[in-house]
Amino acid sequence: MKLATILGARPQFIKASVVSSALKNAEIEEILIHTGQHFDRVMSDVFFQDLDLPQPKYHLNIHSLNHGAMTGRMMEKIEEILLQIKPDWVCVYGDTNSTIAGALVAAKLQIPIVHIEAGLRSFNREMPEEVNRVVTDHLSQLLFAPTPLAVQCLTKEGILQGVHLVGDVMMDAILTYLAKAQQTSQILEKLDLVDQKFYLATIHRPSNTDNRDRLQNILENLTQLKYPVVFPMHPRTLAKVQQQEMLPYLEAIQVIPPVSYLDMLILEKNCQSVLTDSGGMQKEAYILGRPCFTLRDETEWQETVEVGWNHLVKPENLYQSLTHFTTPTHAPRLYGEGNAATRIADILLAA
Ligand code: UDP
Repeated sequence: MKLATILGARPQFIKASVVSSALKNAEIEEILIHTGQHFDRVMSDVFFQDLDLPQPKYHLNIHSLNHGAMTGRMMEKIEEILLQIKPDWVCVYGDTNSTIAGALVAAKLQIPIVHIEAGLRSFNREMPEEVNRVVTDHLSQLLFAPTPLAVQCLTKEGILQGVHLVGDVMMDAILTYLAKAQQTSQILEKLDLVDQKFYLATIHRPSNTDNRDRLQNILENLTQLKYPVVFPMHPRTLAKVQQQEMLPYLEAIQVIPPVSYLDMLILEKNCQSVLTDSGGMQKEAYILGRPCFTLRDETEWQETVEVGWNHLVKPENLYQSLTHFTTPTHAPRLYGEGNAATRIADILLAA
């Protein structure tokens, strides 16, 4: 069996690393196609160095374009490659432009699609990711859902065939890499954070970065918290801060370049709370037992909110929410047993 995996963004490298290992163990041939959506050392190369992810066979180098141009160019290149390699399946992850580009091309070539992290919904169509998720799910033949809620969302949209609840591959990734991170990461020493209390922030969603007032509000409020804020800043956020002349706000925040996954796990595990708009980090905070404050109006990881570990907050309420929060005593297993990747490989073998 030959499977072509299309990826291109940071969270996809992390998810694919555990699935690639499971596919290899199951002797499924996998050909990686990297669209180039994330392309530099800190957003791409470092993940291929640290994680068990083979080098991509194809690198399309398509990035820094508007959504339409980026997706269109990806589709053109992906089509050429798929026609050449003739895979039995095309595998896509999550909700990025690389996901939808791969899914659309595969659907038109009538190659069955595997969608990993299927069924997520924020119910906010203004998020580009929401559009990508919905369309990809409706085109896919095998849909691997991380949670019962994701299965329910698919059911409500009439997607009943090919849906498998396997748990979340990010749970697998944490179980796979946490020990290595604890042995090798020097990030706390490098940032002078050993035995220090700090908050960990990441912000990169357009709804937070592309509106000047909103971004200013977030940065202002991050400077007024009880503990220092460490902020590995996504390149698009930094570009917006620079364009909008907000660099002075960064003086009171410990802004650093994006970190490796291993360093990120250590920061997440040792911080007081995670303050974020990232999808992946809401889950990681939960799995690592840290409270999360999500700077959005809604989340596709609703179960973390329901169990009391994740709070949707407005920037101006951050200080209050962080101060008055009590950590829940119970943290049920929401994301499976850490065997999602092997279950995906087994189901593929039987398909
Ligand atoms: N991440 C990382 N380094 C960073 C920021 C995030 O390794 O500097 C990891 C994080 O641990 C998580 C994933 O990237 O596994 C989340 O990616 P991102 O926030 O870019 O995307 P989203 O999950 O929102 O789609």
